[in-house]
Amino acid sequence: MTEKYSMEIKRKINCDVFVAGGGVAGVAAATAAARRGVSVILCESSGILGGQATNGIVTPLSSVQSRSGKKFGGIVDEIIEKTIELSEKYALPDKKGNFYNRIACPEILSYVMLKMCVEAGVKIMFHTELVGIKRKDKKIECAYVFTKSGLFQINADKFIDATGDGALFAEAGEEYALGSEKGVYESLFETGLDSVHYEDNTGVVHALSDTSGLMQPVSIFFVMGGVDYKKASSFNNKRLTYSDLGISKEEFHSLPYFGSVGFEENGDLIPLPQGRILVSEGISDDYAVVNMSRINGINGADADDVNRAETEARLQLMAIVDFLKRYVPGFENSYLVNTGSTLGIRETRRLKGKYILSGKEVIECRHFEDAIAKGSYMIDIHDPRGKNKALGGELKGDFYEIPYGCICAVKNENLFVCGRCISVDHVAHSSTRIQGTCIMTGQAAGTACALSVKNGDVTVSELRQALIEDGVNL
Ligand SMILES: Cc1cc2nc3c(=O)[nH]c(=O)nc-3n(C[C@H](O)[C@H](O)[C@H](O)COP(=O)(O)OP(=O)(O)OC[C@H]3O[C@@H](n4cnc5c(N)ncnc54)[C@H](O)[C@@H]3O)c2cc1C
Repeated sequence: MTEKYSMEIKRKINCDVFVAGGGVAGVAAATAAARRGVSVILCESSGILGGQATNGIVTPLSSVQSRSGKKFGGIVDEIIEKTIELSEKYALPDKKGNFYNRIACPEILSYVMLKMCVEAGVKIMFHTELVGIKRKDKKIECAYVFTKSGLFQINADKFIDATGDGALFAEAGEEYALGSEKGVYESLFETGLDSVHYEDNTGVVHALSDTSGLMQPVSIFFVMGGVDYKKASSFNNKRLTYSDLGISKEEFHSLPYFGSVGFEENGDLIPLPQGRILVSEGISDDYAVVNMSRINGINGADADDVNRAETEARLQLMAIVDFLKRYVPGFENSYLVNTGSTLGIRETRRLKGKYILSGKEVIECRHFEDAIAKGSYMIDIHDPRGKNKALGGELKGDFYEIPYGCICAVKNENLFVCGRCISVDHVAHSSTRIQGTCIMTGQAAGTACALSVKNGDVTVSELRQALIEDGVNL
């Protein structure tokens, strides 16, 4: 029997559109809706907007243009242009100054997104967690959120799930998928993707077998300063033996963290949690963003798993810092700058919406008449089973499109979904989860809500027309 606990509702608030989750997708959704003149409430469980991009210091803002360099436009361009402009004034200038995979200073980015929301008239509720909803007929009637002042009820006409984890659609009874599906990798061989296989630690290449239900591993990013990045990056993405770094195995085995926190024995290979060195450029020339922690077998939407992962990943971080400083050329004089304040979750629930975009469609760069967003990032599945390399490969065209049905819920007529948890399969998700694409689906969801609040309903052609008016290159 499920036990229930009732709470007094301290306040009731009305709005046209309620957005749960203030990551890049939620910010784009709330801003797009509010700019079209409807009242919007955005609730965010932390005190900063941006989600993984800011709290998680995932500084590369990828999939913001096609592979041949055509900008995707709309709020994606706006966020990047404003972030570059302010970074040059107040932080560190963008080193490459281009639009692909640009390094966005999290401090500036969170400010840019806050200002966009405020100027559009979005009511932001920080430190506020969506905890439940009430349905009537085929609609969501209200959301319940837990604030510093207790439980509030938010009545809205339209609802947007931008939580990354699908927290709202799960409460609303929508069907969803978790992790990989049986046969999903095998079906990709026919697409000619260059690496639908994995390489084990001996360098042997294997075909993929069933990994049903497994989700990509979680990681926590951190930043090191005082790094000779050029020197350090020559070891990047490589799985190294002890002799590659001139380390004696005996010495390594005597390190206090050897045998634990992801540094388990791995033959002649240095036993790193992710199996390899993985760093990217930071916002300063002597910064490196380190993506080397990895915890497998975690469902980022499960409380026990999240607690375990936050603990284990943070214990890994200090061991990785020690390893880099001690042994990796370029890190000799480095120092720890900061760590992501939240676990880096790559994959949790994916909506089973009106259309489910497949990995094959992403790889083949399919276009759709009812497209509302685009993506260009490669298939990038961090192996859900262990320390092997990522699986995937480059797309076969310039960009793919995302149809409207991927952001539309099935059981709730007034529910839209954007960002990491839209309706795609496990393989497609490894590309659509990327930030530029999350922003685009956010802008589309917010615009769809605003139009349907105003007109009673919205057609795809009206939505596409509105997105184009707002600068999106559809
Ligand atoms: C390790 C790692 C590396 C990555 N590398 C890259 C990369 O190189 N390039 C790239 O572009 N992308 C990368 N990504 C992917 C990208 O960062 C995310 O998928 C993307 O930022 C997701 O955006 P989102 O807005 O959908 O979700 P999130 O950023 O997760 O935002 C969701 C927000 O909702 C809030 N929230 C959740 N539940 C609730 C609730 N119940 N109530 C209220 N608020 C709630 C959260 O606090 C959060 O702020 C990486 C991700 C990870 C984890």
